Amino acid sequence: MTTVIGHEWVIAQLNQQQEQGRVPQSILLVGPPNVGKSTVARQVMQSLNCQGDIKPCQNCLACRKTLHGNHPDLFIFDHEEQTLKIETIRELQHSLALSPVEGRYRVALLTHFDKATLGAANALLKTLEEPPPQVIIMLTAPDTNSLLATIVSRCQILTLRPLPQAEISQGLQTHWQVALDQADLLAQLAGGRVGWALRALQDEHLLTRRRERLQDLLTLLAANRVDRMNYAAKLSQDVALLKETLVFWITMSRDLMLLQAGCQTEIINFDWREQLQPLARRLTINQIKPMVTELRQTLINLDRNVNPRLSMDVALLKLPRL
Ligand SMILES: [Zn+2]
Repeated sequence: MTTVIGHEWVIAQLNQQQEQGRVPQSILLVGPPNVGKSTVARQVMQSLNCQGDIKPCQNCLACRKTLHGNHPDLFIFDHEEQTLKIETIRELQHSLALSPVEGRYRVALLTHFDKATLGAANALLKTLEEPPPQVIIMLTAPDTNSLLATIVSRCQILTLRPLPQAEISQGLQTHWQVALDQADLLAQLAGGRVGWALRALQDEHLLTRRRERLQDLLTLLAANRVDRMNYAAKLSQDVALLKETLVFWITMSRDLMLLQAGCQTEIINFDWREQLQPLARRLTINQIKPMVTELRQTLINLDRNVNPRLSMDVALLKLPRL
């Protein structure tokens, strides 16, 4: 599925550059998780080799092969949980040294490049410095700070921003036939991250897990040390679930901060306003602010493979106590 909601300017800009014969050989897409970087990158790949008039046409042989993942000139490394190693870059460099088989360009997409090893990053830098003709390298990362400055300076940087709620809701209704009410709810909860809304559509339990986790945080705020440690032990057994939980908790503590500042309309978990409002009154800003910081830091630590159990122990013990 390459239907893209929003970010149309990326394709428009690259199509224009292509017409003018000045397509950048290294492209870096940055933006928050689930904002649509990988989807947009795949559409760019499609567009670069498309043989139709309006690119990507979705109909020509190149477009269809790209869609099915069997275009011989495209190379994709898209594993969030796997570290990109130097060996993969070496293999890629061998493939990129050859001329395109069918397309105009050989294109490589390396997502989550912030998680590549230093060796892999340095190896890729050589290719970015002297790219073979007809080769385009695309990278994605949450921000430019998470990459080597030497890599960033070689790339054209395209920044994807969270999309307006109305645009996500409209997209869900048009492309996925979601009913108005549900589209509005998902768009609101997504907080601009269209990928989150799409995942929620495909994973019917996601909304249930969200409700349970938000309730857990309310319970934990009133819980003692032992109960918090027990919860950390249980939750840290599944890192993917743990990361998802932290994202729910970050949105919730951010909402508490907004409620305290009197910004009712901007909160993400608007269907929890009645539970959150009294809580925002009981906590001080000096309790909530460090909570947001701590939860965000824990998520970053997990991405850096810090021990999940240890990270959760620390995070939960630092939560304010009601
Ligand atoms: Zn096409």
